Amino acid sequence: MESLKQRILEEGVVISDQVLKLDALLNHQVDPKLTLEMGKELAARFRESGVTRVITVESSGIPVAFAVAAELGVPLVFARRKKTLVGDTETFSERVPSFTKGIVTDIMVSRQFLKSDDHILFIDDIIANGDAARGLIKIIERSGATLAGMGVVVEKCFQQGAATIREQGVRLEALVKIKSLENQQIQFEV
Ligand code: 5GP
Repeated sequence: MESLKQRILEEGVVISDQVLKLDALLNHQVDPKLTLEMGKELAARFRESGVTRVITVESSGIPVAFAVAAELGVPLVFARRKKTLVGDTETFSERVPSFTKGIVTDIMVSRQFLKSDDHILFIDDIIANGDAARGLIKIIERSGATLAGMGVVVEKCFQQGAATIREQGVRLEALVKIKSLENQQIQFEV
Protein backbone atom coordinates (compact mmCIF):
# COMPACT_ATOMS: atom_id res chain seq x y z
CA MET A 1 0.00 0.00 0.00
CA GLU A 2 2.04 2.92 -1.34
CA SER A 3 0.14 5.74 0.45
CA LEU A 4 0.78 4.00 3.77
CA LYS A 5 4.49 3.56 3.03
CA GLN A 6 4.71 7.26 2.30
CA ARG A 7 3.00 8.19 5.57
CA ILE A 8 5.25 5.83 7.51
CA LEU A 9 8.33 7.46 5.95
CA GLU A 10 7.01 10.92 6.80
CA GLU A 11 5.63 10.29 10.27
CA GLY A 12 7.32 7.16 11.65
CA VAL A 13 10.15 7.63 14.14
CA VAL A 14 12.89 5.01 14.34
CA ILE A 15 13.50 4.43 18.05
CA SER A 16 16.05 1.63 17.63
CA ASP A 17 16.97 -1.14 15.19
CA GLN A 18 13.94 -3.01 16.57
CA VAL A 19 11.25 -0.41 17.23
CA LEU A 20 9.44 2.04 14.99
CA LYS A 21 7.26 4.60 16.71
CA LEU A 22 3.99 5.01 14.78
CA ASP A 23 2.05 7.14 17.25
CA ALA A 24 0.94 9.57 14.54
CA LEU A 25 -0.79 6.80 12.56
CA LEU A 26 -1.52 3.80 14.76
CA ASN A 27 -0.67 3.98 18.43
CA HIS A 28 -1.79 7.39 19.67
CA GLN A 29 -3.48 9.31 16.88
CA VAL A 30 -5.73 7.86 14.19
CA ASP A 31 -6.15 9.27 10.68
CA PRO A 32 -9.71 8.22 9.83
CA LYS A 33 -9.29 8.49 6.05
CA LEU A 34 -6.09 6.47 5.98
CA THR A 35 -7.54 3.94 8.45
CA LEU A 36 -10.61 3.42 6.25
CA GLU A 37 -8.29 2.83 3.26
CA MET A 38 -6.33 0.27 5.26
CA GLY A 39 -9.59 -1.43 6.22
CA LYS A 40 -10.71 -1.56 2.59
CA GLU A 41 -7.44 -3.09 1.46
CA LEU A 42 -7.33 -5.77 4.17
CA ALA A 43 -11.03 -6.56 3.72
CA ALA A 44 -10.52 -7.01 -0.04
CA ARG A 45 -7.88 -9.67 0.62
CA PHE A 46 -10.28 -11.72 2.77
CA ARG A 47 -13.62 -10.89 1.14
CA GLU A 48 -14.07 -14.40 -0.27
CA SER A 49 -13.02 -16.14 2.95
CA GLY A 50 -16.43 -16.40 4.62
CA VAL A 51 -15.47 -14.31 7.66
CA THR A 52 -18.16 -14.16 10.37
CA ARG A 53 -16.32 -12.00 12.91
CA VAL A 54 -13.26 -9.79 13.04
CA ILE A 55 -11.17 -9.95 16.20
CA THR A 56 -8.33 -7.78 17.50
CA VAL A 57 -6.56 -6.97 20.76
CA GLU A 58 -7.14 -3.66 22.49
CA SER A 59 -6.19 -0.96 21.97
CA SER A 60 -4.14 -0.11 18.88
CA GLY A 61 -5.69 -2.79 16.67
CA ILE A 62 -9.23 -1.47 17.16
CA PRO A 63 -9.45 1.35 14.57
CA VAL A 64 -8.19 -0.70 11.62
CA ALA A 65 -10.09 -3.79 12.74
CA PHE A 66 -13.24 -1.67 12.92
CA ALA A 67 -12.62 -0.46 9.37
CA VAL A 68 -12.16 -4.06 8.15
CA ALA A 69 -15.30 -5.26 9.97
CA ALA A 70 -17.36 -2.40 8.54
CA GLU A 71 -16.19 -3.30 5.02
CA LEU A 72 -17.02 -6.98 5.51
CA GLY A 73 -20.30 -6.24 7.28
CA VAL A 74 -19.51 -8.39 10.32
CA PRO A 75 -19.09 -7.63 14.06
CA LEU A 76 -15.77 -6.64 15.58
CA VAL A 77 -14.69 -8.24 18.86
CA PHE A 78 -11.69 -6.90 20.73
CA ALA A 79 -9.82 -9.04 23.21
CA ARG A 80 -9.41 -7.12 26.44
CA ARG A 81 -6.30 -6.91 28.54
CA LYS A 82 -6.53 -7.42 32.27
CA LYS A 83 -3.91 -7.18 34.96
CA THR A 84 -4.72 -10.39 36.79
CA LEU A 85 -6.24 -13.62 35.72
CA VAL A 86 -9.00 -14.58 38.11
CA GLY A 87 -10.56 -17.92 37.26
CA ASP A 88 -13.45 -16.96 35.01
CA THR A 89 -15.41 -19.65 33.28
CA GLU A 90 -17.14 -17.16 31.00
CA THR A 91 -13.96 -16.17 29.17
CA PHE A 92 -11.11 -17.63 27.15
CA SER A 93 -7.81 -16.20 28.47
CA GLU A 94 -4.13 -16.33 27.52
CA ARG A 95 -1.05 -14.79 29.10
CA VAL A 96 1.14 -12.89 26.62
CA PRO A 97 4.33 -10.84 26.92
CA SER A 98 3.97 -7.28 25.64
CA PHE A 99 6.71 -6.32 23.18
CA THR A 100 6.67 -2.58 23.79
CA LYS A 101 5.74 -2.48 27.47
CA GLY A 102 8.11 -5.22 28.64
CA ILE A 103 5.41 -6.74 30.86
CA VAL A 104 3.12 -9.73 30.76
CA THR A 105 -0.60 -9.19 30.33
CA ASP A 106 -3.58 -11.46 30.16
CA ILE A 107 -5.86 -11.11 27.20
CA MET A 108 -9.40 -12.39 27.36
CA VAL A 109 -12.41 -12.83 25.12
CA SER A 110 -15.88 -13.55 26.42
CA ARG A 111 -17.28 -16.91 25.29
CA GLN A 112 -20.38 -14.98 24.29
CA PHE A 113 -18.52 -13.40 21.36
CA LEU A 114 -16.52 -16.35 20.06
CA LYS A 115 -18.50 -19.39 18.94
CA SER A 116 -17.47 -22.74 17.51
CA ASP A 117 -19.21 -21.98 14.19
CA ASP A 118 -17.32 -18.68 13.74
CA HIS A 119 -14.75 -18.15 10.98
CA ILE A 120 -12.48 -15.47 12.39
CA LEU A 121 -10.33 -12.81 10.76
CA PHE A 122 -7.72 -11.56 13.20
CA ILE A 123 -6.50 -8.00 12.58
CA ASP A 124 -3.66 -6.24 14.40
CA ASP A 125 -1.55 -3.11 14.07
CA ILE A 126 2.00 -4.47 14.07
CA ILE A 127 3.51 -7.92 14.26
CA ALA A 128 6.93 -8.21 15.90
CA ASN A 129 7.73 -11.44 17.77
CA GLY A 130 4.17 -12.64 17.39
CA ASP A 131 3.42 -13.24 21.08
CA ALA A 132 0.13 -11.34 21.00
CA ALA A 133 -0.89 -13.15 17.82
CA ARG A 134 -0.01 -16.59 19.17
CA GLY A 135 -2.02 -15.88 22.33
CA LEU A 136 -5.08 -14.85 20.38
CA ILE A 137 -4.76 -17.78 17.96
CA LYS A 138 -4.73 -20.13 20.98
CA ILE A 139 -7.91 -18.49 22.26
CA ILE A 140 -9.58 -18.92 18.87
CA GLU A 141 -8.51 -22.58 18.71
CA ARG A 142 -9.81 -23.22 22.21
CA SER A 143 -13.20 -21.75 21.31
CA GLY A 144 -13.57 -24.25 18.46
CA ALA A 145 -13.85 -21.40 15.93
CA THR A 146 -11.76 -21.51 12.76
CA LEU A 147 -9.26 -18.90 11.63
CA ALA A 148 -9.74 -17.37 8.16
CA GLY A 149 -6.41 -15.61 8.52
CA MET A 150 -4.61 -12.65 9.97
CA GLY A 151 -4.15 -9.16 8.60
CA VAL A 152 -1.70 -6.61 9.97
CA VAL A 153 -0.88 -3.05 9.04
CA VAL A 154 2.87 -3.49 9.55
CA GLU A 155 4.96 -6.66 9.50
CA LYS A 156 8.50 -6.29 10.79
CA CYS A 157 10.16 -9.02 8.74
CA PHE A 158 13.39 -8.94 10.72
CA GLN A 159 11.55 -10.34 13.73
CA GLN A 160 10.21 -13.87 13.72
CA GLY A 161 6.52 -13.43 14.55
CA ALA A 162 5.05 -13.41 11.04
CA ALA A 163 7.26 -16.28 9.82
CA THR A 164 6.30 -18.54 12.73
CA ILE A 165 2.60 -17.77 12.32
CA ARG A 166 2.80 -18.61 8.58
CA GLU A 167 4.66 -21.83 9.46
CA GLN A 168 1.59 -22.81 11.50
CA GLY A 169 -0.33 -22.70 8.22
CA VAL A 170 -2.09 -19.39 8.91
CA ARG A 171 -2.62 -17.01 6.00
CA LEU A 172 -1.05 -13.73 7.14
CA GLU A 173 -1.41 -10.58 5.02
CA ALA A 174 0.51 -7.37 5.72
CA LEU A 175 -0.18 -3.96 4.18
CA VAL A 176 3.45 -2.97 4.60
CA LYS A 177 6.52 -5.10 5.25
CA ILE A 178 9.57 -3.56 6.88
CA LYS A 179 12.82 -5.40 6.38
CA SER A 180 15.13 -3.18 8.39
CA LEU A 181 15.30 -0.20 10.74
CA GLU A 182 19.09 -0.17 10.85
CA ASN A 183 20.98 3.13 10.68
CA GLN A 184 17.77 5.02 11.46
CA GLN A 185 16.46 4.09 7.99
CA ILE A 186 13.07 2.54 7.33
CA GLN A 187 13.57 -0.04 4.59
CA PHE A 188 10.56 -1.73 3.05
CA GLU A 189 10.53 -5.19 1.54
CA VAL A 190 9.70 -4.89 -2.14
P1 5GP B 1 4.48 -8.96 19.27
O1 5GP B 1 3.56 -9.65 20.24
O2 5GP B 1 4.22 -9.38 17.84
O3 5GP B 1 5.92 -9.08 19.64
O4 5GP B 1 4.15 -7.40 19.36
C1 5GP B 1 2.89 -6.97 19.00
C2 5GP B 1 2.47 -5.66 19.59
O5 5GP B 1 3.54 -4.88 20.12
C3 5GP B 1 1.86 -4.84 18.47
O6 5GP B 1 0.45 -4.99 18.50
C4 5GP B 1 2.29 -3.43 18.76
O7 5GP B 1 1.30 -2.72 19.45
C5 5GP B 1 3.52 -3.57 19.60
N1 5GP B 1 4.74 -3.37 18.79
C6 5GP B 1 5.65 -4.30 18.43
N2 5GP B 1 6.67 -3.75 17.75
C7 5GP B 1 6.38 -2.44 17.64
C8 5GP B 1 7.05 -1.34 17.01
O8 5GP B 1 8.13 -1.41 16.41
N3 5GP B 1 6.43 -0.13 17.11
C9 5GP B 1 5.24 0.04 17.75
N4 5GP B 1 4.72 1.26 17.76
N5 5GP B 1 4.59 -0.97 18.37
C10 5GP B 1 5.15 -2.21 18.31
